Amino acid sequence: MPTIDGERVVADLKRLAEFGHYKTGVHRPTYSPDDVAARHWLAGRLREAGLDPVIDGVGNVIAYDPQAQRRLLIGSHSETQPYGGWLDGALGVIYGLELARAFAADPDCAGFGIEVAAWADEEGHYSSYLGSRSYIGGLTEDEIDRITGRDTGKTLRAALAEAGFAGRARERVEPGRHIGYLEAHIEQGDTLDASGLHLGVVETIVGIRNFRISFTGEQNHAGTTRMVRRRDAGVAMVRLATRIHDRFAEIAGPRTVWTIGRMGLEPNAPSVIPGHAEMQLQFRDPDPGYLDACESALSALVADANRSGPCRVAVEPVARSAPTPMDPGFQASIEAAAEHHAPGLHLRMPSAAGHDAAVLAECMPAGMMFIPSLGGVSHHWSEDTGEDDIVLGARVFADAAFRILQARR
Ligand SMILES: [Zn+2]
Repeated sequence: MPTIDGERVVADLKRLAEFGHYKTGVHRPTYSPDDVAARHWLAGRLREAGLDPVIDGVGNVIAYDPQAQRRLLIGSHSETQPYGGWLDGALGVIYGLELARAFAADPDCAGFGIEVAAWADEEGHYSSYLGSRSYIGGLTEDEIDRITGRDTGKTLRAALAEAGFAGRARERVEPGRHIGYLEAHIEQGDTLDASGLHLGVVETIVGIRNFRISFTGEQNHAGTTRMVRRRDAGVAMVRLATRIHDRFAEIAGPRTVWTIGRMGLEPNAPSVIPGHAEMQLQFRDPDPGYLDACESALSALVADANRSGPCRVAVEPVARSAPTPMDPGFQASIEAAAEHHAPGLHLRMPSAAGHDAAVLAECMPAGMMFIPSLGGVSHHWSEDTGEDDIVLGARVFADAAFRILQARR
């Protein structure tokens, strides 16, 4: 079985975290100078590991092993959220690098190839899962023309040109090349940390549905308009928000989460009755049945609000993704490896966050493994995981990859 060098894994993670270092975390938005430098550094490390790396036309770093007979693709993303953590994405990329080195050094792994990907912009500074979608053929040139930066307003074309990636070919999945895709990631929630467990075997990546709910009332003077004749869109919004929270609590499954993360009033002034209001509701679940139940409940509540008035309520879907099950054979291999290295200290669980693995699952078997996030903190510079868990995770991940490659020999 391939041997992991734990110190080397931690040292590489710390080196990668120097690009865009911020407090104890990292600020490395996609295509920023720090992100571009990190991608070139990664390509260099992958070349030292004996692979052939390329940085493609959207900034994906993909490292190939031309000699191998059977190949696993292993990766994650290398940019971070604004003022984010040092492990989100980076962990899965550095595990890929370490596995490539460990497999190359082990005679038992002759013929096995670990190919490594650092996908571009999973975090959506320009467009979520941009790099992995490009790789599976799910991103058109027209779409690239239209995308602008979420925080900067800069066009994606301009960002790619500044990064030095414009005009490069985009790498594409080669059918039959890989027996599958594996991704390791920090959990980002507190399920493992709170229960003293060390490894998560991902069963499903949750489905997500987003809706924009708008309220039309009548804008008027906050002093002279008598209460009985008001049509206050703000009141209609907070009433419906409360009903959604109450109703979802009654019908939700054990893993359902829902969030009203954005609310707005027009004109949003202290002495004006709001004539228009808008909020966004998002809910997530690994089970499509609960997603459907929430959507039906939302429709019923909106119909109810429209019947009772006095404002008009409209719902519009903004985005939706279906739950993505991970390959059952890969789950079994990850679980067997976890049981070998940490008996009884692992858990099968859904991923409540989206990941590139859900994109790759569209064209090859995919699997994911989690390690704990201390206190369940992520998308924040204080995000962290104990070094023991980082090293244990690398060993389990290598063992799982070895089992998968052997089983499909
Ligand atoms: Zn991530």
